[in-house]
Amino acid sequence: MLESLKKMFSGNEGDLPVHTGSKPDISREKSAELYEKAKTFFPGGVNSPVRAFKSVYGTPLFIQKGDGCYVWDADGNQFIDFCGSWGPLILGHNHPKIREKVTEVMQNGMSFGAPTALENELAELIIKNNKFVEKIRFTSSGTEAVMSAIRLARGYTGKDKIIKFEGCYHGHSDSLLVKAGSGLVTFGETSSQGVPKSFALETIVIPLNDKDAIKAAFEQFKDEVAAVIIEGIPANNGLLIQDQDYVEFLQQICKDNKALLIFDEVITGFRLGFEGAAAHYGVKPDIVTYGKIIGGGLPVGMYGASAEIMGHISPDGGVYQAGTLSGNPVAMAAGIAQLTELSRSGFYKDLNAKTTEFAESIQRFATARNYKFKVFHVGSIFWFAFTDKEAIKTAEDIDPQSMDKFKVLHRELLNRGIYIGPSGYEVGFVSAAHTKIELEKAKRAILEGLDVVFRNK
Ligand SMILES: *Cc1c(COP(=O)(O)O)cnc(C)c1O
Repeated sequence: MLESLKKMFSGNEGDLPVHTGSKPDISREKSAELYEKAKTFFPGGVNSPVRAFKSVYGTPLFIQKGDGCYVWDADGNQFIDFCGSWGPLILGHNHPKIREKVTEVMQNGMSFGAPTALENELAELIIKNNKFVEKIRFTSSGTEAVMSAIRLARGYTGKDKIIKFEGCYHGHSDSLLVKAGSGLVTFGETSSQGVPKSFALETIVIPLNDKDAIKAAFEQFKDEVAAVIIEGIPANNGLLIQDQDYVEFLQQICKDNKALLIFDEVITGFRLGFEGAAAHYGVKPDIVTYGKIIGGGLPVGMYGASAEIMGHISPDGGVYQAGTLSGNPVAMAAGIAQLTELSRSGFYKDLNAKTTEFAESIQRFATARNYKFKVFHVGSIFWFAFTDKEAIKTAEDIDPQSMDKFKVLHRELLNRGIYIGPSGYEVGFVSAAHTKIELEKAKRAILEGLDVVFRNK
């Protein structure tokens, strides 16, 4: 008993919160008004579905301004933001270095559809600091980058099928809007209307963390698989951290079957460091995709590989891919400014240490109170899971019922000035702009929120 009591209070004193119970809802008058209007313009009132707050309480908040780790909505509510525009804002909102660089470059015009020196500059920053890519191509979104990487893999190998994992998101291109059917190895089923069944037949969907499933897939579709695509660390459906051994196995089985291994590092690229999850695991992907952080808040995506593989892209090779606004100078400028900041020594070490402390102190509290709650984290990514499992590595391990609890936590956090993505399947991001003060404030709000969730106040 004594031992367990000791253990219970072995965290920081600050881990023991006051139970304030539910807080009154923040005012959303202006946001609600804007949302009503937006619904007359856009399906669901939004230009990307998750923004619609369908799985949490209330109407979406319309954001007016961001600065550092803070955002303000149309009603003037202030929040400490852990969404960071879904990942890109690793330096926080409206970073002066990015704003200055963008403003400077904008003076010379917005787009030329011709090469500029800025593309070279960003490419050099990336390639010099990344042993996994020799040549790259910029796109305007992560979706485009991944779609092009798939085409490249097919063009390079002369094979059509791709293997993807249940619980990984790779943007909204046809081949990848496919979910698992029933059975261990199946053709995928489309996860969106409008995707032809014949496309889904080219995508095999298997569970993560299951060597037998991928072995079976390669046996069944021998010599037909162009590529295996996985998120560097799956972070779009919870945070599904894969074992070292499994990731190495993927590399080997791809090699054995002359299939390419694609790491979709649109979230993890420049989040876990300049070399993303590939360096985290020490596993070299054949093709890698980046997005989000690379554009400093403006629309940039990228795919890259060895010079040999990239030689198959037009105009050098026969795999066609293009973009009117690809390598846009203003977007390049934002990317250059952001990556320059990230390349400073100690940047990731500090950010990751801060995140670890934040996540672990929340965990200590939850554990001491026996709450069915885990904070999974890697680098500066964290995910709140209402579970008692020690690890969650597959989509199936996530209990859909637990999202009811997230919904309550989300409301309590908004009401306490903390903004996180409006879905329990989404991860949160700590930025360099979050200081100890805001993290402490957020932690307290989260602990109070958990008390509300678990005590039904
Ligand atoms: C966000 C994301 C994408 C899609 O990028 P968009 O810029 O939204 O098109 C693709 N893959 C992963 C892993 C992502 O996180």
